Amino acid sequence: MIDVRNVGKAFGNLTVLRDVSLEVRAGEVVVIIGPSGSGKTTLLRCLNYLEEYDSGEVWFDGQLVGYRDLNGRRVPDTEANIAAVRAQMGMVFQHFHLWPHKTVLENVIEGPRIVRRIPAGTAAESGRALLDKVGLLDKADVYPSKISGGQMQRAAIARALAMEPKALLFDEPTSALDPELVGEVLEVMKRLALEGTTMVVVSHEIGFAREVADRIVMMDEGRIVEVGAPEQILENPAHARTQSFLSKVLH
Ligand code: ADP
Ligand code: MG
Repeated sequence: MIDVRNVGKAFGNLTVLRDVSLEVRAGEVVVIIGPSGSGKTTLLRCLNYLEEYDSGEVWFDGQLVGYRDLNGRRVPDTEANIAAVRAQMGMVFQHFHLWPHKTVLENVIEGPRIVRRIPAGTAAESGRALLDKVGLLDKADVYPSKISGGQMQRAAIARALAMEPKALLFDEPTSALDPELVGEVLEVMKRLALEGTTMVVVSHEIGFAREVADRIVMMDEGRIVEVGAPEQILENPAHARTQSFLSKVLH
């Protein structure tokens, strides 16, 4: 589903991704861990071209992301093509990014209505079903300021699902939440994983990673340091940097 090949990325003189390669199969859940500044967010944003990458290739479901071939040369893709690929990946951010002046349901159906041109009634019906799925049907007509962070993040997940993406990308979806609200968001994510959703999740929720991830990716200083099954990475990491990172997040 996702094939990252030797991707490099710099911001000015600061190299933040170095020769990163990663494949994510359909239905797989990959959790990315690693210290702050190691390039996790940048990698996630390169997958859907919210961030341009400098070298290498990102393929999504058979499409090269961000570029196209023109007479054997790689040239930037059109905005329309980039938007079309991006729409196939739902993104869930640390800080929810809900529209404050729209109700929960309006937030969920905005994408389908505007981008996919789904009629309001149909979109609302699907939107309510998604809100039910994340346990928020009773908050459909409420504004985001009136609900908790955990509810906001579940609304953001419903909004991402409303575009019927082929994969979901999560960037530290629970790290802005009060501790007592983390569980309800992880529960929803776990359910999506069990349904076979392809997910790339940046998260330091090690319990979630252990239980739900097919593979854990450890990043440090712009590189993938190691990749493996949860039990291998968490119980028997090959790399000293993984060991020291885990000793910090597991206290
Ligand atoms: P992580 O998500 O692992 O904390 P990031 O991908 O956010 O790491 O950042 C990797 C590095 O890139 C950091 O040093 C960060 O300061 C830098 N960085 C991220 N975004 C930008 C940007 N837009 N401009 C300049 N530097 C950036
Ligand atoms: Mg980050």
